[in-house]
Amino acid sequence: MTVGQSFRFELRRIYWTRQCLRMLFALSAAWLFGAVYLFFTSPRIGEIGAGTIGAFIREVFGGLWVAIGAPAAFIVMLLVAAFVLRRGDLRRRDPQRRFTRYQRREGMTRAKGRCELESRYGKRCTQAAEHGDHFYPWSKGGATSLRNFVAACSQCNRRKGARIPSPGLLRRLERRRASYVGAVLVGERRGR
Ligand SMILES: [Zn+2]
Repeated sequence: MTVGQSFRFELRRIYWTRQCLRMLFALSAAWLFGAVYLFFTSPRIGEIGAGTIGAFIREVFGGLWVAIGAPAAFIVMLLVAAFVLRRGDLRRRDPQRRFTRYQRREGMTRAKGRCELESRYGKRCTQAAEHGDHFYPWSKGGATSLRNFVAACSQCNRRKGARIPSPGLLRRLERRRASYVGAVLVGERRGR
């Protein structure tokens, strides 16, 4: 397996893992809200009002706890997973964040001074490049290397932010780069 292929596999794994986690989180949150809503609108709530305030609070919280237990446990599990991933990202951070002057010059020349990201529909942006951007975000362990350098206009740079790029964007960028510079690998993530 070549270096480029291994990054491609790595990106696919990371991207889809995090998409799944995000989706599970959204589902768990909806489940939690649904459980709380159903609990407070259930006819049982109206019936407990009779006893003392202490008994009422005990009943409500005891019942609520049972109602939200499962989705709450799920959310806690997902938060733990997110925490572990984030700690891994922090450990991988490149001590050098800014690209060197050499890397910027080479990267900009390679892109022919034009933004390499996409404006719309998977087409290359037409703006002039102004920034050197980490293809795989620096904050998530992306290397400050020429391989991970993409030339970007300020608009694309801002839009991309620190999100992990999709495997589709990697594929299109590699294909486009092949047409203007020959085969050049895109993206690099630091090891542990
Ligand atoms: Zn652009």
